[in-house]
Amino acid sequence: MKLKDKVALVTGAGSGIGKAIATLFAKEGAKVVVADIDPEKGQETADMIKQSGWDARYVQSDVSREADCEKMIQFTQAKFGKLDILCNNAGIAMVICPVENVSEELWDHIMAVNLKSVFLTCKIAIPIMKEQGGGIVINVSSVSGIRPRSGLCAYSASKSAVTTLTKALAIEAATHNIRINSISPVATDTPMLEDMMTDEMKENVEVTKQFVLATIPIGKFAQPEDIAKAALFLASEDASMVTGIDLPVDGGRSI
Ligand code: NAP
Repeated sequence: MKLKDKVALVTGAGSGIGKAIATLFAKEGAKVVVADIDPEKGQETADMIKQSGWDARYVQSDVSREADCEKMIQFTQAKFGKLDILCNNAGIAMVICPVENVSEELWDHIMAVNLKSVFLTCKIAIPIMKEQGGGIVINVSSVSGIRPRSGLCAYSASKSAVTTLTKALAIEAATHNIRINSISPVATDTPMLEDMMTDEMKENVEVTKQFVLATIPIGKFAQPEDIAKAALFLASEDASMVTGIDLPVDGGRSI
């Protein structure tokens, strides 16, 4: 087991990639806190993990709010006594549209959930990790931050900034035995894929998917488990010399 006796907090773990990360971390021996804005889905992930014989707890949290970030980190320490691994996975998409149709409100909301959340959780968790003598942060960014698609300006900008914030914090924290990396998934088979589609695209989901697929050199969508395996590598001792990187899990999309 690669994460025996570790304590991990995974945000947005009620669905998709976060759910797969929380499950794999638990399978590998970590005690996992499942944080999600949606109590039903978050509790479902924690229950599913417990039914498999592993350890998990759910905490409700909106990662765009500082008080909620405090709450979920305090919850983790209270339940499991420490915080070894913080995985900032929660994120939201936007419906594909030209920049002139992006409202200030939408821009701010995307930045708050996708980017500010990483700042907030790191601001709270890094001092804890310093005191503990080390820790690991994994931020789920996106290949959209490296190679943007048309019509996703706010989403792409938020993810590109997550990757830069990852590097900025990694250099700050390196001497404290804290490793901070990001992962950039390509289009992944989760509910988020359709969240980006316009009504017209949704009428022809299969055609839209084929169009996206044609832009992924390896010829398939990522599965949430593909991203979870990359997160496990970064969380484990196998990556003990790895900090400040962005790891594309993108089937060649960013080439
Ligand atoms: P998903 O299936 O929609 O799961 C995201 C989870 O995060 C949902 O349970 C969602 O709850 C929750 N969430 C949303 N806003 C939140 C908030 N403010 N605080 C706490 N939880 C919140 O999406 P996914 O595809 O697994 O995406 C996970 C991460 O991967 C995101 O950061 C995304 O940008 C990134 N990513 C995804 C893809 C892709 O193609 N799927 C590609 C590249 C990167 P609700 O459903 O109630 O909103």
